[in-house]
Amino acid sequence: MITNNFGYHAPPDLDGVVAALAEARGDVVVLGGGTMIIPDLTHGRASADVVVDLSRAGLSGIREEGDEVVVGATTTYTEVLSDDRAAALVPLLRTLSSGITGGPQIRNKGTIGGSAAYANPCSDVPACLVALGARMRLASARGVREVPAEEFYTGAFATVRRRDEVLAAIVLPRPDGTAGYTKLKLAESSWPIVTAAVVSRPDGSLRVAIGAVAETPRLIDVEPPSAGVDDPAWRDHVRRAVAAAVPEPWSDLLADGAYRMRVAPAIVARSVAKALAAGGEETP
Ligand SMILES: Cc1cc2nc3c(=O)[nH]c(=O)nc-3n(C[C@H](O)[C@H](O)[C@H](O)COP(=O)(O)OP(=O)(O)OC[C@H]3O[C@@H](n4cnc5c(N)ncnc54)[C@H](O)[C@@H]3O)c2cc1C
Repeated sequence: MITNNFGYHAPPDLDGVVAALAEARGDVVVLGGGTMIIPDLTHGRASADVVVDLSRAGLSGIREEGDEVVVGATTTYTEVLSDDRAAALVPLLRTLSSGITGGPQIRNKGTIGGSAAYANPCSDVPACLVALGARMRLASARGVREVPAEEFYTGAFATVRRRDEVLAAIVLPRPDGTAGYTKLKLAESSWPIVTAAVVSRPDGSLRVAIGAVAETPRLIDVEPPSAGVDDPAWRDHVRRAVAAAVPEPWSDLLADGAYRMRVAPAIVARSVAKALAAGGEETP
């Protein structure tokens, strides 16, 4: 039960959302699907004087805008999975959505934008957005700005989002390569310990991001393997790329940082292999 009183707004559009955020005083909570923030409020890990609920603001859905794909912030995992065209546009988004644990309740209510904004180091979303070259569209009464995903995250549970801003959408360059995604988890229902998202581009280069290894998702500098992903020299190259990108690994109850660093290169290699397989690999 949430024990304190708070003001509640459920604006009908984005203009109403940014106006409510501009006027709010005290602790302001943006409510996406509520799958994380409602338990946080209930257990006192977060507090709210004002709640701005996005559920009526029309921010969900995936659409093409020119040569980009715009994912509305309140798009749920279920919406991604049930929109064949959207899933075909960004297969990596479908792959990550299909591997979210917590059952239908979480996939029906949890939003892509809510996960991105929460910035839990162990979430699937952040590293995938970095690998896809996403830009985070932040709206406030002062205007709209877009921040590259790799600059959006500043630490564990911390982003550049200002108090009066809402993450309105995530903008993706239309993927023109194949993708691979792998996550290591303790059990089917667990959160990820390490994730690796790889986009293989038509020019042969790779865009590789790792998640859950550090406080923030990291782009790592990995060349495509010339002698296959099992080549020891290439494996060493990947290990060095991970070490260079992660001076301070992330530890939590699931695993300590040393373990994450030890397994991350193998997870990257698996994702690279999937991305390089004909047509890319779409299983988590
Ligand atoms: C049982 C369980 C299993 C899970 N398993 C996984 C898993 O396997 N992998 C994984 O990655 N995640 C997992 N999750 C987390 C899940 O992905 C998130 O709960 C969900 O995506 C968060 O979205 P939401 O809309 O419910 O966020 P909310 O709970 O509504 O909000 C989360 C935070 O983001 C802020 N926020 C929300 N939307 C916006 C916005 N548009 N702009 C600005 N701020 C915003 C809120 O203020 C809050 O601080 C699991 C969660 C549960 C409860």
